[in-house]
Amino acid sequence: MKKNKDTGRDPNEKELKEAERIENLPEDVRRSHPTAVKADPAKLTHINTYGTLPDYYIDRVFTCRKCGKREIWRARDQKWYYEETKAHIDAKAVECHGCRTGKDSEEA
Ligand SMILES: [Zn+2]
Repeated sequence: MKKNKDTGRDPNEKELKEAERIENLPEDVRRSHPTAVKADPAKLTHINTYGTLPDYYIDRVFTCRKCGKREIWRARDQKWYYEETKAHIDAKAVECHGCRTGKDSEEA
């Protein structure tokens, strides 16, 4: 049985709670939170919806649409997704790591 690698590690309840708490903090507190990752506007030029460009990313809790598991979409993964894969800003994580890779789900 293969164990998930670093980024695929399942968040525990404490981490989920903490991520939710941070999400609900005021904007100015969130952006300076240690888990926030600064965005690079130079890498977001493919997004031409001015005014809605993120200038930072924070961990986000979401529920997998396939298996219903709650997982954290890490700030660093969002940065990579938007800035390196040039995803549209409306594109969001909808499936957990296990469902996306299709490899680790049998562990559940
Ligand atoms: Zn899933």
